[in-house]
Amino acid sequence: MRCQPGASLVVGGLTPLTTIDYPGELAAVVFCQGCPWRCAYCHNAHLQPRAAVQPMAWSEVLNFLQRRRGLLDGVVFSGGEPTLQRSLRSAMAEVHALGYKVGLHTAGCYPTRLRALLPHIDWVGLDIKALPQDYAALTSVPGSGEQAFASLRQVLHAGVAHEVRITLDQAYLPAPKRDRLVALLHARGARAIRLQPCRSV
Ligand code: SF4
Repeated sequence: MRCQPGASLVVGGLTPLTTIDYPGELAAVVFCQGCPWRCAYCHNAHLQPRAAVQPMAWSEVLNFLQRRRGLLDGVVFSGGEPTLQRSLRSAMAEVHALGYKVGLHTAGCYPTRLRALLPHIDWVGLDIKALPQDYAALTSVPGSGEQAFASLRQVLHAGVAHEVRITLDQAYLPAPKRDRLVALLHARGARAIRLQPCRSV
C-alpha cells in the first residue's frame, strides 16, 4: 500500500474522550472522512463523501493529542472507513510516537490494505454486517461481503486483539440470519463477538 504523510489525512471530526470505543482504554476517536459503501442504516452518512464539509486539520488533532498525553490511553481511527485513506499508516505512526495505543474501527472494505496495517495496530473493531450473500443489498456494493470476510480472515490470522461487531438491524439481519451469522463466525474462528444495537440516527 502506497503511504502518504499523516498530514494528508482527511478528518471529519474528533471525539475527545470515550470509554466505550476502545475496550478497557480511555481513548479519543478520530473520524476519518470517506467510505466506499452506502449502508442503508449508516448513522455517519456525512462521513461517506471523500471531502469533508468542515474538515479538521491533522495538525490540530496532533496538537490535541499532545495536550492529552498521560490522560488518554489510546486513539481510535473510525469513520467513515479509515482504510480508504493512504495516509492512515503515517497518521497511526505519529499517534504511536506520542505514546498512545492505536485502535481501528473498520468495516473491512479493503482487506489487502488492512493486512498491511495490522502490524501497526493494537486493537481492531471489525464490523461484520450480514451473511456474505446479503452484503450487497445492505451496502449497495457488489462483492462487499467477500471483502468483509477476507478482512475477517486477515484479522484472525494476524492474531491482533480484536472484536467482531455485529449490528442488529431487523430489516437486514433478522434473528434467524443473526444466528446463522454468529454460527458462521464461530466456524471461521472468531471468538470475540459483540452484538450491538442499530442506531437509527
Ligand atoms: S461502512 Fe460504516 S461508514 Fe460506511 S456506509 Fe456503512 S455504516 Fe456508513
